[in-house]
Amino acid sequence: MSYDDTNIFARILRDEIPSVRVFEDDDTLVFMDIMPRADGHCLVIPKTACRNVLDATPAQLAACMATTQRIARAVMAAFDATGVTLQQFNETDGGQEVFHLHFHVLPRHAGLSLRPPGKMEDMAVINANAEKIRAALAAI
Ligand code: AMP
Repeated sequence: MSYDDTNIFARILRDEIPSVRVFEDDDTLVFMDIMPRADGHCLVIPKTACRNVLDATPAQLAACMATTQRIARAVMAAFDATGVTLQQFNETDGGQEVFHLHFHVLPRHAGLSLRPPGKMEDMAVINANAEKIRAALAAI
């Protein structure tokens, strides 16, 4: 399987389509999932091309994991979460829909299940949740 640079996250990286960004460094970008399964659901991606964990380099994985830890801590603080779930899917049969490596970061609360996938969130809600994450990142 090869990398197709017309995938939606590659287009987000090139700013060809909009995204609600909350963090970036030299190697990674973090933006809000537009169909969040929990308030504060965001996605960590490498800035360089790779399809998923199967073709990623150790450097891409290390960069993503360092950013994922940073964002996991931030969403815990931003949403007073009592847990955080990380999800990552590989190839269609592994549940992957967008073929640029990404890690889902989902703040969790006791007794609250993840919402079903596939429902678009109001952009005002997504923007407000992004602002909470940015504030938490600035504070830690
Ligand atoms: P998966 O490849 O199964 O890990 O899922 C891809 C994720 O990307 C889903 O959670 C979608 O809601 C999310 N998604 C798809 N398009 C966009 C977009 N334009 N901006 C932000 N998130 C997106």
